[in-house]
Amino acid sequence: MDKKIKVTRSAMPPFEEYVEKIRPLWDTHWLTNMGCLHKEFEKEVCHFLDVPYASLMVNGHMALELVIQAMNFPAGGEVITTPFTFVSTTHAIVRNNLIPVFCDIKPDTYVMDESQIESLITDKTVAILPVHVYGNVCNVDVIQAIAQKYNLKVIYDACHAFAEMYQGKAIGSFGDASVFSFHATKVFNTIEGGVVTFSDKILYEKLYDLKNFGIRGEESILGVGANAKMNEFCAAMGLCNLPYVKDNIERRKEKVERYKKLLKECSVKNFSQYDDADIKYNYAYFTVEFWTEEDRNKAYALLRENDIYARKYFYPITCDAKCYEGRFEKAGVDTARSVSERILVLPLYPELEDENISRICRIIKKACQEESETEKE
Ligand SMILES: *Cc1c(COP(=O)(O)O)cnc(C)c1O
Repeated sequence: MDKKIKVTRSAMPPFEEYVEKIRPLWDTHWLTNMGCLHKEFEKEVCHFLDVPYASLMVNGHMALELVIQAMNFPAGGEVITTPFTFVSTTHAIVRNNLIPVFCDIKPDTYVMDESQIESLITDKTVAILPVHVYGNVCNVDVIQAIAQKYNLKVIYDACHAFAEMYQGKAIGSFGDASVFSFHATKVFNTIEGGVVTFSDKILYEKLYDLKNFGIRGEESILGVGANAKMNEFCAAMGLCNLPYVKDNIERRKEKVERYKKLLKECSVKNFSQYDDADIKYNYAYFTVEFWTEEDRNKAYALLRENDIYARKYFYPITCDAKCYEGRFEKAGVDTARSVSERILVLPLYPELEDENISRICRIIKKACQEESETEKE
């Protein structure tokens, strides 16, 4: 047995349930191209996320890339976004020949600081692409008002927010579209997969074309589409994992409570609070923000020595990635850069043992103590 503790552990259904689900494929030999399981799963996702429409995709990144493409923005258009995210968010903008304009984040919840959006709008701005980072919900009301005022599209990267609600509304119902990832490392997975949710039916057809080569019939090709279809085996995984999501989230919540209790004694700047009464959380991540980068790196190294693999999500911020050197404006995101140098995501999954949470917290306490002692010398 691998005794390493990773930052997450992929949810898997009981083996027999998965086998039962894929057994019919050995009769039909229909493995992909919007088969029965795909249709069933798309409907269930729509229902589960409580959204009018959902379009399944091969992964979260292609979902982002294709929904941006479906909006038909003029090349060179500017998209206001956050650099404090997985690099996929920024790549999806750039790969559509659009310019990412980086907005700073809020120091407590790490989501885009909506009070800074208007100052970044120019006559080239076409859209706002915020991220509900770590499941913390963006200020959707203010963002919507700004979008309306300036006639901009809003696409939410909701990859961290599966199953969440905000003020009693489904998280996937805000903006013009929201994107969720079903990657193996997320709260809910289909091995690889993703979905776009939206309320404008026209978007369904546009996305269908984009994910299926623009093919409408055997001899009818209407668009220059890519291939981003979810296959039947992934749809089957989704159908089997979905009934367990709520229970998994409950168990994650218990782990979070334990972390919160134990970390109170540590001299860190902040850690996941999960205390906004307007949000029904999915407890996807547990973050610790240290006072200094040294503390963070020390905790990271000390945890590794103990076979515990915390992750520096999100470091570096995307505008500082090597591939974007010299390409886009990267000033004015001091909070994002500072947080990224001091943050650590701790292991969190339903089966994480309480004893290991205690160990992790003891190690973090030790890392911070040693640091403050050397500072005193
Ligand atoms: C995981 C993730 C993505 C990409 O999703 P994949 O399914 O891995 O392609 C995009 N944005 C964010 C914020 C993510 O966490």
